[in-house]
Amino acid sequence: MRIDIISVLPELLESPFSHSILKRAQQKGLLEVHLHALRNFASGKHKQVDDYPFGGGAGMVMKVEPIAACFEHLQEERDYDEVIYTSPDGQLLDQALCNELSMKQNILILCGHYKGVDERIREKYITREVSIGDYVLSGGELAAAVIVDAVGRLIPGVLNDETSALFDSFQDSLLAPPVYTRPAEWRGMQVPDVLLSGHEKKIEEWRHDQSVQRTKDRRPDLYNKWVGEEGE
Ligand code: SAH
Repeated sequence: MRIDIISVLPELLESPFSHSILKRAQQKGLLEVHLHALRNFASGKHKQVDDYPFGGGAGMVMKVEPIAACFEHLQEERDYDEVIYTSPDGQLLDQALCNELSMKQNILILCGHYKGVDERIREKYITREVSIGDYVLSGGELAAAVIVDAVGRLIPGVLNDETSALFDSFQDSLLAPPVYTRPAEWRGMQVPDVLLSGHEKKIEEWRHDQSVQRTKDRRPDLYNKWVGEEGE
C-alpha cells in the first residue's frame, strides 16, 4: 500500500512512521508513506497557502490552487483509490473503516489547517472525509498519523503473528480481554490462575467471557451490537 500525505507541516509526520510496526512495514515493502509539503505547490513570492475567509470572521482558509496543483501532480503519477480529507465533520474512523482502507492500494490524505480547506476542494477531489473523534485538533496531521497507524497494521504481513490483529478490540465488536505478563505475582496481585494453567480451551473461554463482560460494562452500545450480530 502507498499512502501520500499532503500537509503544510510535513515535519510533524516525520517521526510517527519511523518506529516500531510502521517502520517494519515499510522495511518489508508492505507500506510506503510519502509526505508532501503543500507550500511547494504554492506560487508567488510568499508561497501563500491560506487566505482570509469570504464573508469575514476569524481564522484563515486553505486556498484551492496549491491543493489542486498538488493533487493533480500526484494524480498524474497514479490513480488513488481514496482521496481523504481529515475533518471533524467527516465519517468517524472505526475499525470497520480501517479494515476497508487496509485493502486499498493507493491512498491520498489531505491534512487541513487553520479553519479548514475551501469547500470547493472537498466537492471536487475528496472521496472520503474522516474524523478521528468528536473533538477539534489544530491540524489534520495527527489525524492522518492515526489513520496510517490503524490502517497500516492491518495490511497482511505487517504484524508478525498474522492472526493477532484479529483479536484486537473491535474486530468482532468486542473489547479485548485483560492481558498479563511475568511476574505471576506482583505486590500480592495474582495473575488469574487459568492463564497459568496451560489449558488452551479454558484460556480461550476465559478471554471470551472477559471480553464480553468488559464490553457490557464499558461500552453497552458495542455490546448490544454484538448481541445483535450473534443472534443472526
Ligand atoms: N473549523 C473547523 C476545524 C478546523 S481544525 C471545524 O470546526 O470543523 C483544523 C484542521 O484540523 C481541520 O481542517 C482538519 O483537517 C483537522 N482536524 C481537526 N479536528 C479533527 C478531527 N477530529 N478529525 C480529523 N481531523 C481533524
